[in-house]
Amino acid sequence: MRLLILGILIYICYRSLKSWLGPHSAIRQPDRGGAVEKIDDVMVKDPVCEVYFPKRNGFRFKLGGKDLYFCSKECRDKFVTAQSS
Ligand SMILES: [Zn+2]
Repeated sequence: MRLLILGILIYICYRSLKSWLGPHSAIRQPDRGGAVEKIDDVMVKDPVCEVYFPKRNGFRFKLGGKDLYFCSKECRDKFVTAQSS
């Protein structure tokens, strides 16, 4: 009888240990839903003509690790020209 209880105890310990150390399925993987940078439909300001427009319609320009958005290609070109001069 004692041996049976001991056996059950060992079994319970073994099971809890196994589930504790067990496969990493218990650890939830971070969602990889947005692998591509999601551009929300937020309003941003064009630094050139100071017009607000939806970010997704903007023309992106990278400047020192920062993303700048312009309402049109013309504004972006204007800004690039101003930066380089
Ligand atoms: Zn503009």
